[in-house]
Amino acid sequence: MNAETNSQRVLTHMIQKLKNYSPYAPKNYKLTSVANSSISTGYLDGKQVKRIIFYLRGVGCSWCKLDYGGCSMCGHYHGTTKSGLMPEGSHLQQFISEYIKYDFKEFPIVCIYNAGSILSREEMCDHDLAEILKIVESNNHIKHVIIESRPEFITENVLQVMAELLKSTSAEIGMGLESVSEVVRDLCINKGFSFNDYTKAAELVKKYKIKMLTYITVKPLFLTIKESISDVVESLRKLRNLTDVVSLEPTSIQKWTLVDYFYSQGIYRIPSGWILKDIIEEIKENIEDLGFELRIGGFEFYPTPQLYVSNCYRCNGDLYKAINSFNVSKSIDEMLSLECECAKTYEMEKYNEQSLNIASSLPARVAEIIADKLLSSYLR
Ligand code: SF4
Ligand SMILES: [Zn+2]
Repeated sequence: MNAETNSQRVLTHMIQKLKNYSPYAPKNYKLTSVANSSISTGYLDGKQVKRIIFYLRGVGCSWCKLDYGGCSMCGHYHGTTKSGLMPEGSHLQQFISEYIKYDFKEFPIVCIYNAGSILSREEMCDHDLAEILKIVESNNHIKHVIIESRPEFITENVLQVMAELLKSTSAEIGMGLESVSEVVRDLCINKGFSFNDYTKAAELVKKYKIKMLTYITVKPLFLTIKESISDVVESLRKLRNLTDVVSLEPTSIQKWTLVDYFYSQGIYRIPSGWILKDIIEEIKENIEDLGFELRIGGFEFYPTPQLYVSNCYRCNGDLYKAINSFNVSKSIDEMLSLECECAKTYEMEKYNEQSLNIASSLPARVAEIIADKLLSSYLR
């Protein structure tokens, strides 16, 4: 995606303005301590374990820093310095100062995120990446490390470094493909890379025996519930044998994002948990035979989202238990047996969405939504 083409769209101009507007003051961020760290559930060799997520203070995702770049649902940029290079040693210092707070006996998985791509040399220098990986490798309690990167930063060079430094610790690289559809990835997400870019990177990752983790978005901006279910099912079908793990990521609401804007205007509705049940229902016959491990994620981000996938207060507990049970044992029974009165509201929403202009192409629908929004107060 070149910036010039991307500048010819209203949506990317909106993303650009939202990126530049932020109540956070990046200049006040300390470069010696992490943005955050948290403990959550992870899954290793079919067992539920605890993992630590280190959210390093980053300089900002390279894609988001480009004019008209940045993804519609992602507000990570607002938690970064939005600056050029981080001084050498800064990421290392951040990592060490947080690392020493934990006793890793209970935490076999470590996730190291930087609100962008750890493998981008502009986001983290070679020295800091290598030293952090050496620390991870030297800790016998840490069995598995997860990092994230866009495909353009996944090169033979950087994978070689990882393979050389990580001998007894397995590694996983998470990448947000979001959808196998070029149109959905481009228009609903503004992702800025193609499926071909993804497959090339995924093949390289496999060559180095590193695990490939692929994020697929559930209910991206502008798709109806039914369309999103079909999009997810099609994505899972096409990802067969390309990835080791797929994590379904229901869209959450992070502040100062395009998704947040359309949500605030009543145009976008956050996915309810029932869409996950529908997806599992659709794929249940082939779930043993997907060709990769399937997880449900989308809960851990920094800055913390304001809203996550949920149902109602009566059944949210059951929903999150069903998600956990699916992630641990791959059992679909709990998910499929979820029942609550609030499912009727979801079914009604699915039905009502038919009144949207779903017969037209997605670009035409997006244009119509924006036109409606612009004219709404004038034509009242
Ligand atoms: S989702 Fe990933 S690629 Fe997109 S803007 Fe956020 S950090 Fe960058
Ligand atoms: Zn409910």
